[in-house]
Amino acid sequence: MLVPFHLYEPATLTAVQDLLLRYGPGARVLAGGTDLLPNLERRRVCLQAVLALPALPELRGVQTAGDGRLRLGALVTLAELAASPLLRAYWPILADTAAQMATPQVRHLATLGGNLCAGLPAADLVVVLLALDALIEIQGLDGSYTLSLDQWLAPWGVPRLQSGELVRAVHVLPFTGHAAYQRFGVRAAADVVLANVAVRIPADRDGVRIVVGAHGLRPARAAAAETMLANGAAAPVVAEAAAVWACLPDDRRASRAYRQALVRVLVLRALASRAEVA
Ligand SMILES: Cc1cc2nc3c(=O)[nH]c(=O)nc-3n(C[C@H](O)[C@H](O)[C@H](O)COP(=O)(O)OP(=O)(O)OC[C@H]3O[C@@H](n4cnc5c(N)ncnc54)[C@H](O)[C@@H]3O)c2cc1C
Repeated sequence: MLVPFHLYEPATLTAVQDLLLRYGPGARVLAGGTDLLPNLERRRVCLQAVLALPALPELRGVQTAGDGRLRLGALVTLAELAASPLLRAYWPILADTAAQMATPQVRHLATLGGNLCAGLPAADLVVVLLALDALIEIQGLDGSYTLSLDQWLAPWGVPRLQSGELVRAVHVLPFTGHAAYQRFGVRAAADVVLANVAVRIPADRDGVRIVVGAHGLRPARAAAAETMLANGAAAPVVAEAAAVWACLPDDRRASRAYRQALVRVLVLRALASRAEVA
């Protein structure tokens, strides 16, 4: 049973921010609710107020700007990402990743912003967006500002939001080259993955990225493996470096050694299956 809380449906971002300031840590915004509501039910989180995010244009939409930059609103659902013709044509890694996540019912509710803010160590979109060097657009108290996603994710995985702030959107800059994502869970659907990996290889090899999920409490870049790949090392050598470096959990779902073996295989698969991003 849920502990009673005040449910607000503010109509503007200013009203959301006023309520966040009024309640402090006792309030959280609600997007799709697929993470927050189960956590409230299990009493992992107890709140005085839940603030439903308004479906404002600045929180929605899958668009490209004149410079080719992709902007994804925080309230875009996984189903919208998976079905977007723009993503299917130019950013297939994002559409394909969203299509693999959760279940159809969850994908129709769950949002990009919720995936970024839930603090899940292996959140699929966080792994991919880190590999794409995405920027995060924050609604601050004095207007919006952007930060690199890598900087924004604190070492322990909890996003850096000051009191009264929320995520507005994600931006991805265009690049020419290849990007790929690989995940492994015991079940094909509705399972927390045991390991996941994203790679990005620009055509000029400047800015190679290899990101491993569930590294400590957050996904992280395997910097030494990236340098090896940029310098032309063979895929098995790169995969071994990423697997040895990764600080993976050892728990009842899988041993660290098993997860390391998965990372090795997933890096190899990602390097072999990479799709072109023009
Ligand atoms: C059956 C099932 C399967 C799942 N499978 C997957 C999976 O395969 N991969 C995966 O990564 N996740 C999975 N999840 C977890 C979850 O569904 C996703 O992470 C989802 O994207 C969360 O989005 P949401 O809109 O539902 O977030 P919510 O539950 O609404 O919010 C989650 C957290 O983020 C905060 N938040 C949300 N939006 C914002 C914002 N704009 N600004 C600031 N804070 C914000 C909320 O306050 C809350 O703390 C699964 C969940 C379920 C129930």
